Amino acid sequence: MLSATSDAVTLDRVRAVCQPLLDSAGFIPGADADERYCTDWSRARGQPLAVLRPRNTEEVSRLLTVLHALRQPVVLQGGMTGLTGACVPQAGEVVLSLERLRDIEEIDPVSGTVTVQAGVSLQALHQAVEAQGLLFPVDIGSRGSCQIGGIIANNAGGNRVLRYGMTRQSVLGLEVVLADGTVISRMGKVLKDNAGYDLKHVFIGSEGSLGVITRALLALQPLPVSRQSALVAVEGFDAVTALLTQCRKRLGPRLSSFEVMWRDFFDISTGLLKKGRPGLNLAGSHVVLVEAMGIDPEQDDAQFAETLGTYQDTHAGCEVILAQSLADAQAIWSIREAAGEAANAIAPCAGFDVSLPMARMATWAHDVHVELRAMGLTQTQTYGHLGDGNLHLLVGGTGDPVVKAAVDELVHRSIGEVGGSISGEHGVGLSKKAHLHYCRSAAEINMMKLMKTSLDPHGILNRGRIFDLP
Ligand SMILES: Cc1cc2nc3c(=O)[nH]c(=O)nc-3n(C[C@H](O)[C@H](O)[C@H](O)COP(=O)(O)OP(=O)(O)OC[C@H]3O[C@@H](n4cnc5c(N)ncnc54)[C@H](O)[C@@H]3O)c2cc1C
Repeated sequence: MLSATSDAVTLDRVRAVCQPLLDSAGFIPGADADERYCTDWSRARGQPLAVLRPRNTEEVSRLLTVLHALRQPVVLQGGMTGLTGACVPQAGEVVLSLERLRDIEEIDPVSGTVTVQAGVSLQALHQAVEAQGLLFPVDIGSRGSCQIGGIIANNAGGNRVLRYGMTRQSVLGLEVVLADGTVISRMGKVLKDNAGYDLKHVFIGSEGSLGVITRALLALQPLPVSRQSALVAVEGFDAVTALLTQCRKRLGPRLSSFEVMWRDFFDISTGLLKKGRPGLNLAGSHVVLVEAMGIDPEQDDAQFAETLGTYQDTHAGCEVILAQSLADAQAIWSIREAAGEAANAIAPCAGFDVSLPMARMATWAHDVHVELRAMGLTQTQTYGHLGDGNLHLLVGGTGDPVVKAAVDELVHRSIGEVGGSISGEHGVGLSKKAHLHYCRSAAEINMMKLMKTSLDPHGILNRGRIFDLP
């Protein structure tokens, strides 16, 4: 920790160079900072030295130029819905918040693109493009708060990866400010461009460690006019994978979501939290939320019902609840989207977001649960975007740091052993960096460090996130 005196001296230096570059709402001393700049969804908390709230790329660039000269550590903040503690200010860090960059600059229906500033919320973007008959396909439960810059920095996944891919697949261009204030901008509406390295991919998923995303050019899709949703309860994981195979075969690219809930999650969501329709009662070891989207409502409804009906006829004990209305669909989704509330029900808990080959999933999940029970840990919640091999696991009773460390070690070591990743979507941040080596080789981590030191030689951006440097 810095001492109070050195904090004050540093604040004075930061104020002297930054305040003149901003309007009156742009500079907040740390002591006056609202709580929202101190904590994210990981529940960790820190006090910033100061909060900087620029309004555009130029202001971000001027700020970083002076902060780089001062060697001043900076933490980047978007919507603060991240789950790895990456946005929580560490001692002596200045917050650079993108919350005031919130213009949707252009929706171009002909090229199917939107040009947007980093601080626009995902929900605001959805609403704006849907009003023009277009879809921005990335959709996650935190849509009301998370920002475009945040989802790009984290390469967010979400509910429709199966059909449209991760955020990376929807990014056509980026404007990024490097640690020294240099602006890198490639926002042309050109789909094919093989002129040298495609630099945007360096920044997508870099968790704010390589540059500040200030603007993006995103690809839009036609807005589907039909949507079918259902809950399917099955017995055994083999029945889950058989259902996925059947849905892929019969629905083809219309299959947009395949969310699987183990009983330990489904029961808390529908029972304790009363999500879904009253009286909803499904048996089975797993409940799957299946969703398809298309452009021919009549034919799509019939094809969806027929696909699940055929599956039900050939799988004893399977139950299907088809949504008959938009309200039904929302009720079904509310069960899956209660993840945040469900986590609160067993807090403090350890949260995992692993991905692994589908063929290993059933055994891995079973073995981990057995080991957790052997440790006396019975409060678990298991669910995931299974169509893309991503599984979320929450473990309650982990308030004791020693127990939490043992559970982290168990889950991450075992996921490495089956060829999986310690992060399918949420990133590494602060909370998972000690275990990065379970899914990345020393050569890969070394290359990441080389990229970091060449783009941010003084290590001012999101210092100590993902990995430590000497
Ligand atoms: C209820 C809930 C559901 C969620 N569901 C999903 C899900 O389905 N899939 C998924 O992938 N994630 C999910 N998340 C995690 C989280 O919402 C995503 O990681 C999201 O991408 C974070 O966006 P944000 O704007 O809140 O970023 P923040 O939390 O503010 O920041 C996240 C990281 O990005 C960096 N960053 C933020 N803005 C910028 C920028 N402009 N330039 C450079 N770096 C930046 C930060 O420094 C930090 O490292 C969920 C979270 C919650 C709370």
